[in-house]
Amino acid sequence: MAKQIQAIRGMNDCLPTQSPLWQKVENTAKQVVSAYGYNEIRMPIVEMTHLFKRAIGEVTDVVEKEMYTFEDRNGDSLTLRPEGTASCVRAGIENGLLYNQEQRLWYMGPMFRHERPQKGRYRQFHQFGVEVFGIEGPDVDAELIMMTARLWRELGIDQHVRLELNSIGSSEARAEYRDALIAFLEQHLEVLDEDSKRRMYTNPLRVLDTKNQAVQAILIDAPKLSDYLDEDSKAHFAGLCELLDAAGIEYQVNERLVRGLDYYNRTVFEWITDSLGAQGTVCGGGRYDGMVEQLGGKPTQGVGFAMGLERLVLMLETLELTDVRRPVDVYVVTAGEGTLMAGMKLAETLREAVSGLRVMNHFGGGNFKKQFKRADNVGAIVALVLGENEIAEGTVVVKDLRGGEQQTLAQAEVAAKLAELI
Ligand code: ATP
Ligand code: MG
Repeated sequence: MAKQIQAIRGMNDCLPTQSPLWQKVENTAKQVVSAYGYNEIRMPIVEMTHLFKRAIGEVTDVVEKEMYTFEDRNGDSLTLRPEGTASCVRAGIENGLLYNQEQRLWYMGPMFRHERPQKGRYRQFHQFGVEVFGIEGPDVDAELIMMTARLWRELGIDQHVRLELNSIGSSEARAEYRDALIAFLEQHLEVLDEDSKRRMYTNPLRVLDTKNQAVQAILIDAPKLSDYLDEDSKAHFAGLCELLDAAGIEYQVNERLVRGLDYYNRTVFEWITDSLGAQGTVCGGGRYDGMVEQLGGKPTQGVGFAMGLERLVLMLETLELTDVRRPVDVYVVTAGEGTLMAGMKLAETLREAVSGLRVMNHFGGGNFKKQFKRADNVGAIVALVLGENEIAEGTVVVKDLRGGEQQTLAQAEVAAKLAELI
């Protein structure tokens, strides 16, 4: 036998047993954002490496060590997208969607980061993201958060996620804070790990995000970003908090929340769960008012979030919220001369008559017992039986597989009966 070829580490198949739960998450997310008037945008999976370096920032985990970058046959440096925002902004500028316009967009699809694979962390993972352009006020920040809160309610996980919120102000305010933070860190060099020391001068805010407990301990006394915020950012944040209070959404202000990508300003937020262990952030987002200009467009405000679909699916599994719509409603059982084609025709008629009905035909013969077993296995709740007698009489036996009750009906009555049973 030839040697088996395996999938790439950290890149998973989504098997037919898992896809119904994925579809539930994806469809619920799509329905929720549609209810707020958002429109889908689809971007390519590969972009110029340059785009991510410029948008995300050179001194970030993603750009420093997580990107799948390669040279294509033309010698261009390309990268498999590690996130969607940079591509979305690029697409918006390139297609003239952003200038003097408001856009409320969503996207969904695979992202790629070369990280150490573990539960909730993969090399190909999937995000559902939302980006809004051209709206300045905190009202849209609040809408994004309310939208995610609605999604958690619809998925039944609202009791298992909490919201953390912060404002990281304007880039000028951050520059001032940066100097104060560097001065503080310089007094604690002996405690800093290699990563923190390396970042200290290039991107000191990222040190606040450290997972190292010793570093976390000294940071308690570090200068606070909130003391450096500019007045406009403070007013924006106060406005957001007021809107969230009015909407009845609970949150915790976390002064150390800075997020891993460089492009954010003002509002940043994360939805976190305790039910997944270390990989607890299911959704992260914030404002990025400078990015459009930085990528060559006219100054345009931006705000968005992205959620990790693997982590949401894992959460539903962990919380045993795995009820999904059954894949098949009706199984057509046939036996005898000429019955197979009659069964396929009957199924076609029913698919037309009852909208959304899922009908599966039995193929490959076998006795009734075998066919009924198969009907059970695929999860059907009604079996339709067509034998030679039924065909001669223009009837069908309708068997309710939940209670075992069965009745013989004229073919023309079957659709109405199914609409009632399913
Ligand atoms: P983390 O701190 O967990 O690495 P992040 O800040 O790098 O997350 P973002 O870039 O904000 O993540 O991406 C938004 C969301 O995408 C995350 O909150 C998470 O749910 C998901 N996500 C990010 N990286 C991965 C990954 N490697 N595997 C699975 N999901 C991921
Ligand atoms: Mg990360």
